[in-house]
Amino acid sequence: MKRVVVIGGGWAGCAAAISAKKAGADVTILERTDMLLGLGNVGGIMRNNGRFTATEENILLGGRELFELTDKYSRHKNIDFPGHKHASLYDVTLIESVVRKKILDMDIKIFFNSRVVDVKMENKKIRAVILENQNELEGDSFIETTGSTGPMGNCLKYGNGCSMCILRCPSFGGRVSITKKCGIEDIIGQRKDGTYGAFSGSIKLNKESLSKEIREKLNKEGIAIIPLPKEEINEGKLDIKVCQQYALDEFAKNIVLLDTGHAKLMTPFYPLEKLRKIKGFENVKFEDPYSAGIGNSIRYLSIAPRDNNMKVIGVDNLFVAGEKSGFFVGHTEASTTKMQYIGKFRRGV
Ligand SMILES: Cc1cc2nc3c(=O)[nH]c(=O)nc-3n(C[C@H](O)[C@H](O)[C@H](O)COP(=O)(O)OP(=O)(O)OC[C@H]3O[C@@H](n4cnc5c(N)ncnc54)[C@H](O)[C@@H]3O)c2cc1C
Repeated sequence: MKRVVVIGGGWAGCAAAISAKKAGADVTILERTDMLLGLGNVGGIMRNNGRFTATEENILLGGRELFELTDKYSRHKNIDFPGHKHASLYDVTLIESVVRKKILDMDIKIFFNSRVVDVKMENKKIRAVILENQNELEGDSFIETTGSTGPMGNCLKYGNGCSMCILRCPSFGGRVSITKKCGIEDIIGQRKDGTYGAFSGSIKLNKESLSKEIREKLNKEGIAIIPLPKEEINEGKLDIKVCQQYALDEFAKNIVLLDTGHAKLMTPFYPLEKLRKIKGFENVKFEDPYSAGIGNSIRYLSIAPRDNNMKVIGVDNLFVAGEKSGFFVGHTEASTTKMQYIGKFRRGV
């Protein structure tokens, strides 16, 4: 049986692992933190605009497992917000544990607290990956799904500092570019002004810290739009966002909140003092990232050159998916990039 090692257990890693398992491989996920889903533990927006079609296509093409879970654990379905139609919002407080159960039920091995720090190469193939504790894991094929965020030093250099985001680099260690360890140069995204990387585009507020009125509206309708006073509008923040689909005027002129279990505020950061001056936000507290008053995580710092079969150019048995494989921005995109593997493994590569 082919041994497939997936490095990184975000949405892309989970989807790739499921696809490889269904194609008959022996699959192991190595995840540096103590949770699956990576950035998927924040976020939650699914099925908005073209993602609706992408989701249906995934389901019809055989990649239904994860989409069934995000549908089942949606707090709200078929909601509209500026520029976006028929979105659903999965519950970010529940989704990790149900995905974990699904993966384990499928007999996929997961090793947590297992940060890959290096590779052992033989000719143009990876023979084994090396973990932080110096253990080695051999495999026939490797799939890198480490995302494009972090380590912490990058958030300091290209952002407003480590914002203590869901990835928790100070505790678990930063991400490592496996392709770079194989001698392949990363492709790096740039902002309009040429600075490297892009800011994550939303922050999570503790819902309980909002006024009763806003909380009730969020729980009932899934969305609350609060117009900002003129002096609070800052259109400049739109240019630094990863998610340009949310870089619309409406997101600068209003506070747009979505109910994902937390209250998701569609802006990269918001000074706490200013936010607390707005009616209903007097006691507000950030949930993720903790330093959302000044900064957010920086993404797009590490993309691999690859072919259309998602194979890394220059390494014969290394594939990529999710943010590592292109300037993709979402859960749906991360979960979709795995589809190529089904064909690959069936052909015995
Ligand atoms: C604040 C925020 C809000 C978002 N909101 C939405 C939204 O509402 N809807 C949407 O569609 N998208 C949203 N996104 C984007 C979406 O979350 C990401 O595009 C997607 O989840 C990326 O998945 P991934 O698996 O490619 O990478 P990641 O989620 O970054 O996963 C990478 C995983 O690899 C692990 N890892 C890294 N290095 C190593 C290593 N050396 N060894 C072992 N493991 C390693 C990490 O710990 C992590 O678990 C949001 C992102 C953020 C930050």
